[in-house]
Amino acid sequence: MAVSKFHPAEAIMELYRAGHLLFGESRPQELKAKAEALPKDIRWHFIGHLQTNKLKMVLPYVDMVESVDSLHLLEAIDKWGIENKQRVNILLEVHIASEESKQGFLEEELPGILAENYEGLSICGLMGMATNTSDESIIRSDFEKIRNIKRRLETHHPEIRELSIGMSSDWKIALEYDATIVRIGTAIFGERDYSSK
Ligand SMILES: *Cc1c(COP(=O)(O)O)cnc(C)c1O
Repeated sequence: MAVSKFHPAEAIMELYRAGHLLFGESRPQELKAKAEALPKDIRWHFIGHLQTNKLKMVLPYVDMVESVDSLHLLEAIDKWGIENKQRVNILLEVHIASEESKQGFLEEELPGILAENYEGLSICGLMGMATNTSDESIIRSDFEKIRNIKRRLETHHPEIRELSIGMSSDWKIALEYDATIVRIGTAIFGERDYSSK
């Protein structure tokens, strides 16, 4: 998946014309504006922190929300899905990094969530972010942790198919740990210009 946050529509169109259709965005307003302006066969995944008061800006436009990191958000998406007669595809974000600041569920919370019968959403897999470090052994240990969590859950929950791990700096390693989605921004589009918006 090409992570196009902070990059202009023209940059997305260049990849689109080359045949690429899957893009990731992390800010509700930016996602909505791009989704409305750009071709309708583009598939968008939301990968940022999502506040429940912004669901209307995001859910009508996306194929998947990868970054569901709390029960509060999960239940709000379920409610939106039921009200709008849709099943929203989501991934559960799992806390694997050693940094406290990273979001996500702990492994022990996942079986309870998967046992619930949510009618407004489909849980399609797991998403995770490795520790922000150049120490490859730590990155490998984070990816191994989430791969093993997925393998344990899969035995009872075959719907847990997707594993979204790996970014520009570590996607090659992620492929060794069963990644089905890698989220690549900088290595495709170059550095993001945070000053422009
Ligand atoms: C921005 C972002 C990425 C892409 O990061 P790069 O290092 O630019 O590839 C991947 N995943 C998430 C959740 C992001 O917010």
